[in-house]
Amino acid sequence: MTSSTPEQPAAVVARLRATFRTGRTKPLEWRTGQLRRLRAMLTEHGPDLAAALRADLGKGEAEAYRTEIDFTLREIDHTLDHLEEWLRPEPAPVPPHLDGAEAWTVYDPLGVALVIAPWNYPLQLLLAPMVGALASGNCVVAKPSELAPATSAAVARLLPRFLDTDAVAVVEGAVPETTALLEQRFDHIFYTGNGTVGRIVMNAAAKHLTPVTLELGGKSPAFVDRGTDPDAVAARLVAGKFLNAGQTCVAPDYVLTDPETAARLEPALARAVTALYGDDPAAAPNYGRIINERHFDRLTGLLGSGRTVVGGTHDRDSKYIAPTVLGGVAPDAPVMGEEIFGPILPIVEVADLDAAIGFVNDRDKPLALYAFTESAETRRRLTDETSSGGLGFGLPVAHLTISDLPFGGVGESGMGRYHGRYSIETFSHRKAVLSKPLV
Ligand code: NAD
Repeated sequence: MTSSTPEQPAAVVARLRATFRTGRTKPLEWRTGQLRRLRAMLTEHGPDLAAALRADLGKGEAEAYRTEIDFTLREIDHTLDHLEEWLRPEPAPVPPHLDGAEAWTVYDPLGVALVIAPWNYPLQLLLAPMVGALASGNCVVAKPSELAPATSAAVARLLPRFLDTDAVAVVEGAVPETTALLEQRFDHIFYTGNGTVGRIVMNAAAKHLTPVTLELGGKSPAFVDRGTDPDAVAARLVAGKFLNAGQTCVAPDYVLTDPETAARLEPALARAVTALYGDDPAAAPNYGRIINERHFDRLTGLLGSGRTVVGGTHDRDSKYIAPTVLGGVAPDAPVMGEEIFGPILPIVEVADLDAAIGFVNDRDKPLALYAFTESAETRRRLTDETSSGGLGFGLPVAHLTISDLPFGGVGESGMGRYHGRYSIETFSHRKAVLSKPLV
């Protein structure tokens, strides 16, 4: 169903729940069949979807494939390869007082899941949770982001042509439509976006005791240790930060380093920006645009928070902001007061590792923490002494491309996790079974 057939939220959920009750979504064949259909949609309509992503975010085709279309295909293939094994009942040891009994767990699908996606990776962040929900045998209501209207329209048009429309519905819309959806009783709500709306979602879910997964954001720090090769670090930081024009939930938000390392890193960052995007990033095919004027104005308002090392230029008509590095940024500068979510990389100077760990622990738990260091002891201390959704040494962003790793936040960066088998844990109930013969 799409918004062109204005079915009311209550009717959508009732229709899907009726399908779930028939048991049709439970067999492995239905689940793998839906995943194969989703796979076909992505391969047959890759160019249409890439065009929609370009219209919404100025995403280059290669980046659209790498971070959205092929990313989702990999998640589908990994799930198809392992689903049968993941769903196998798992035996549990039985204590002596239940001698003669057997015990095991099975995964029950939950029912009807709601997936609410944001605009920054509007395809991947809608479809990757759906892969888990369908693989777990659920019906799904998919709510794409209204701030990425071309992608929203494309999935609303394509998904019903490929998937079982009695089990999967797309509801397009903004706050009123999402609010109406959230009044319904779902069996799981999977929300990706900001913490303010995350709280609205959790409140709505509480009314029905519906479990939630909240994939939120925050400021993900990148610690750069003394003695690291500045050009090697800069190349990785620039690639991770300016991907999708910085509008990536796990992008390094800011750099924490000592003054000497900062002095060597700053020119290296400028060289790395030129190496990746040329002298005029506005003309680079692999550099995106800001989603809308509101975010453009918010971001340009942060450019004065430090000394411009590279970038700083912008153009409102095309929503272009150059890849920008700011040096000597004070911890209380405006750019440090909120998740940047755009192409601005501030460098905050701290005395040493102890100060960096203190800085991180004084703030909200981030979605990711990154560190560039040659020291095993520094890696150990960061692992043991900080808390974050994920931890990346030497390479930002890429941990989320490993399907066998759980992806999710902690504290202000969210709750719950998904990808691969962790999606099955999220979208199923692990049921305990005990069986003891009567005689
Ligand atoms: P957004 O504005 O597209 O909102 C996300 C969804 O919430 C949309 O579908 C929207 O319709 C819905 N929504 C908005 N206001 C609502 C309301 N009042 N009531 C009900 N629903 C509402 O996206 P956003 O929040 O700007 O996304 C950016 C944030 O998402 C950043 O903080 C980023 O870090 C985070 N994020 C996290 C992840 C992750 O996987 N953890 C991934 C991407 C983005």
